[in-house]
Amino acid sequence: MISTGIRSRFLILFLLVCALFTILLLGAYQAPSGHLPSILAGKHGDHGKPNEAMLTGHAIAPKLGNATAKAELGRAAWKVLHTTFARFPEKPTDDEKEALRSFVHLFQRLYPCGECAEHFGKVLAKYPPQVSSRSAAAMWGCYVHNIVNQRLKKDEFNCENIGDAYDCGCGDDEPKKKQA
Ligand SMILES: Cc1cc2nc3c(=O)[nH]c(=O)nc-3n(C[C@H](O)[C@H](O)[C@H](O)COP(=O)(O)OP(=O)(O)OC[C@H]3O[C@@H](n4cnc5c(N)ncnc54)[C@H](O)[C@@H]3O)c2cc1C
Repeated sequence: MISTGIRSRFLILFLLVCALFTILLLGAYQAPSGHLPSILAGKHGDHGKPNEAMLTGHAIAPKLGNATAKAELGRAAWKVLHTTFARFPEKPTDDEKEALRSFVHLFQRLYPCGECAEHFGKVLAKYPPQVSSRSAAAMWGCYVHNIVNQRLKKDEFNCENIGDAYDCGCGDDEPKKKQA
């Protein structure tokens, strides 16, 4: 006959083993990510929201020596930036303002012409992105582009025309409301 003491010690041991298994199983569980390879499912280097140091750190790309490539890249990049500002909401939410601010800073840091990014970083430090409205963002974009123009001895652009210049003709459909 097994004494009550031994039985209760077995019971405690059994409960401990069960608890250990539960912890191990929960730790090993990861939410299913469909058929995405793990690199696309955010399991590699997913460190959450960008912080200030990440937004304003050093320019990442190396020097871009080829002048033709630099000019082509520049024209395309300015087009993306000005069109982004022209399509930004006139009354953005705080989240949308933060998204644009982060985008501009990361655009600068990752810009594929390292020396351009380095210089543009100094421009951003002096004139931080204006994200309170579409008009503010568009005027700011025009202003900082003019600073780069001036440095490269190009003509100044008249920022009064910025609204018309980047009307992409894409229509003004409301973006899909945030998914629940
Ligand atoms: C962030 C950034 C930094 C750069 N830094 C450098 C650099 O350090 N050194 C370098 O050699 N190149 C740099 N470039 C590239 C350079 O600015 C030009 O894009 C490139 O020299 C080609 O010039 P572009 O004369 O064809 O006209 P771009 O300056 O590329 O402009 C394209 C078109 O935009 C319009 N535009 C001009 N000014 C404005 C304005 N103020 N607002 C709105 N629209 C305007 C005009 O219609 C113009 O034809 C940079 C580009 C970017 C995006």
